[in-house]
Amino acid sequence: MKCCPSYATINMYSERITRMKQVEIDQDECIGCGACVELCPDIFAFNDDENKAYVTTPEGGDQDCIDEAIASCPASCISNKEA
Ligand code: SF4
Repeated sequence: MKCCPSYATINMYSERITRMKQVEIDQDECIGCGACVELCPDIFAFNDDENKAYVTTPEGGDQDCIDEAIASCPASCISNKEA
């Protein structure tokens, strides 16, 4: 069996892209407590007009911080799933 090294590299890269996680907040469920923003200001910010948090860095960052924000969210509206 013949293998093209270049094709293999593209395949590995594509797989890595599809496995990247995305941080999201369900805006309909957010109650605006601000916990996620306090815990992870590099990932979340607060929209004072809407009184809800939003994600500034969907590609994520400090995974421990994101996990803590998810565990601390009283509305369970933060997700961090593979895209
Ligand atoms: S912790 Fe949850 S409910 Fe509180 S602001 Fe963040 S996303 Fe909204």
